[in-house]
Amino acid sequence: MKIRIRGLEFRYNSIPALKNVTLDIHESEIVAIVGPNGSGKSTLIKCMDRILKPQKGVILIDGRNIEDFSQIEIARTIGYVPQSIRQFFPATVFEVVLLGRRPYIGWRCSSRDVEKVFKVLKMLKIEHIAMRDFSELSGGQQQKVLIARALAQEPEILLLDEPTANLDIKHQLEVMEIVRTIVKRRGMIAIVAIHDLNLASRYADRIVMMKDGKIFAVGKPDEVLTLSNIEKIYSIKVKIVKLDGTVHIMPLTPLN
Ligand code: ADP
Ligand code: MG
Repeated sequence: MKIRIRGLEFRYNSIPALKNVTLDIHESEIVAIVGPNGSGKSTLIKCMDRILKPQKGVILIDGRNIEDFSQIEIARTIGYVPQSIRQFFPATVFEVVLLGRRPYIGWRCSSRDVEKVFKVLKMLKIEHIAMRDFSELSGGQQQKVLIARALAQEPEILLLDEPTANLDIKHQLEVMEIVRTIVKRRGMIAIVAIHDLNLASRYADRIVMMKDGKIFAVGKPDEVLTLSNIEKIYSIKVKIVKLDGTVHIMPLTPLN
């Protein structure tokens, strides 16, 4: 499995959001997309799930243009967890996660589908809330449920838009550990838009740093998360320390 993105351009009406984005992503890779608000992270992820259609450029999965995939092929290949949680119709956690099985379900869901749903609920440690109403959960719990739904889909590619934004520190680590475990075990690809540079540094194989709709830097965490890159991208002063081979960033002061 390999993703190739070539010369991607996306505009919302006249507002350019992606400018000539070119990127290759390989099997078993976790790629973090970082960059300030409005730099194009969500737009890139939405183009990859074919929610948005780029005006220029192509996205190829194993050499095939995603425009040529059927809707069901997209659903079986790509699991997407949106940044903002839309209003859901009344449904239990179990039902929301079962929706992830839709690309596989014919007229009825089988006991196998139900088993898969419980397996992911367990993996994310939310089986105890299976029968709760989704809309009554905390933001963090809802986020975990949506991740569970994407995993129940058994996709080869996971697109996660700020999956840890509503989670406390422990749940942030839990979610990233789960992503890493399944990506490595199943040879999947995960593309994760994330604000937390330290989580990106720790869990991503590569980091894509975006600014104004363009890829500003791409490479291994310690190649991308440099003083000068972070200063240029975020206009802040930071201190960088390396602990056990992992780069850690401490924000100090904003620059003008
Ligand atoms: P990020 O996820 O990095 O914060 P986005 O991809 O959401 O960035 O946004 C990139 C740019 O596109 C921003 O300038 C944003 O204002 C604009 N944009 C995003 N969504 C829309 C929309 N639905 N309509 C118009 N402009 C949008
Ligand atoms: Mg976003």
